Amino acid sequence: MAEKASAVATLRTVGNWINGRHLESASTRFGRIFNPGTGEQCASVVMSTEADADAAVSAAKAAFEGWSNTPVLKRARVMFRLKELIERDIEKIAAVVTQEHGKVLHDAMGSVQRGLEVVEFACGIPHLLKGEYNDQVGVGIDTYSMRQPLGVCIGITPFNFPAMVPLWMFPLAIACGNTFVLKPSEKNPSCAMLWAELLQEAGLPDGVFNVLQGDHVAVNALLADERVAAASFVGSTPVAEHVYKTASANGKRVQALGGAKNHLVVMPDADMEKTADALVGSGYGSAGERCMAISVIVTVGDAAEPLLEKLLPKIRALKIGIGTDNSNDMGPLITAEHRDKVRAYIDLGEKEGATVVIDGRTHEITKSSGYFLGPTLLDNASRDMRVYQEEIFGPVLTLVRVATFDEAIDLINAHEYGNGTAIFTRDGDAARQFTHGIQVGMVGVNVPIPVPLAFHSFGGWKRSLFGASSIYGMEGVRFYTRLKTVTARWPTGILGGADFSMPTM
Ligand code: NAD
Repeated sequence: MAEKASAVATLRTVGNWINGRHLESASTRFGRIFNPGTGEQCASVVMSTEADADAAVSAAKAAFEGWSNTPVLKRARVMFRLKELIERDIEKIAAVVTQEHGKVLHDAMGSVQRGLEVVEFACGIPHLLKGEYNDQVGVGIDTYSMRQPLGVCIGITPFNFPAMVPLWMFPLAIACGNTFVLKPSEKNPSCAMLWAELLQEAGLPDGVFNVLQGDHVAVNALLADERVAAASFVGSTPVAEHVYKTASANGKRVQALGGAKNHLVVMPDADMEKTADALVGSGYGSAGERCMAISVIVTVGDAAEPLLEKLLPKIRALKIGIGTDNSNDMGPLITAEHRDKVRAYIDLGEKEGATVVIDGRTHEITKSSGYFLGPTLLDNASRDMRVYQEEIFGPVLTLVRVATFDEAIDLINAHEYGNGTAIFTRDGDAARQFTHGIQVGMVGVNVPIPVPLAFHSFGGWKRSLFGASSIYGMEGVRFYTRLKTVTARWPTGILGGADFSMPTM
């Protein structure tokens, strides 16, 4: 992806935003940004150096004193203005998502909307930060608690939601009184600059929000910086684990959300028409590039045949094409390399003995210049196959047939990932047992993509989340603050003279 500056001189270059303005970098490394729908390069991005990371953290550190002491109501008002500005510009923001990610405009709009909901939640920060108070815990003694900001927080985000995932982080971090450095994906870095400009327009003081472009060099410099108090990461599991271990070893608070393999269990009593609709949307929406996409169908007993009867025509009817055409259901994959990786997984599945019922490799759309692959269905997969075990992150649904409900539960619980899962059934008892016993962080009952709304929290289990904290909602408020508890006694106690025994209240 990296190339010399001279080769991309005629294209727009996305740079850094530090201390309230575009700041030139001395870097000689640049990445190329492509429009995945056409395969054309649309911009380039600076690959920041360690000196750039230092400048970003310095700006955030310098802004912390003033911002953390800004009354919480004033911080909330910046969030209110940001909310209005996102509503004003939502179409423009979605268009940038579509240009650099490829997802269809209606889907891009939905993703901005889901991020906007976190800003709405952050507008309530005065209420969310209220502490607790106990009068008279001892004679003349009161105890109260407060939540205070941590300092400089960093956010490292993936390519698949360039607008939404940053919004999972910085609105709450900033509303809580922290300052922030965002390191977006180098594959689609432009949305981050929109957030910087809108926050400035909303009245946020310079230095409170900064954008550092680049790759692992920028990330590792941020993780090594002792002035950084906390790191939020969303991306693939190997990088999440690296970020978690490095940040923890360097004494930082860290939440690192990783990859997924989400199973949807189809019971024999499910409404097969609705289940098939849910599967095409959740399996192939955004070309399967969602961490909450369904990638494994688990049919129980004799559910497979009636399901396939409904599902196959719906998959074949999917309309695939460029994201700017809102009549399309599914767009391209992010890069040529990623499309080739997903295609190689289909080859692998065939070799491992799965049945390729619908083959995206031969879809008409693959002849176009964009990074397209048709929707694919692999039947008769089993737990020993790599196509079942590994995250593919593309428009590939894998079907595993099991005999019993218990087998379905065992299969999911044995998987290394535990991000999302769902059960489709009309039976309350099965649904109850499923939600109780399943080892997964986000669970749907007749809901295929159970992404919690902004006032709940988002996070998986097992190797889908490293660290104790989920993201946004009250977990987010707790992550971006630390608790201080004050026990206070006023002069009458002091006038009583010194006490040398252990205080027992
Ligand atoms: P990625 O892990 O390749 O990159 C994520 C971020 O980490 C980027 O900003 C990237 O520049 C940086 N990075 C990459 N390699 C690094 C390294 N060696 N050292 C330090 N930083 C590095 O992920 P991606 O391909 O951009 O996104 C797709 C992945 O993200 C999928 O696995 C998907 O499941 C996951 N994801 C998870 C969630 C969730 O909430 N759990 C949400 C969205 C995406």
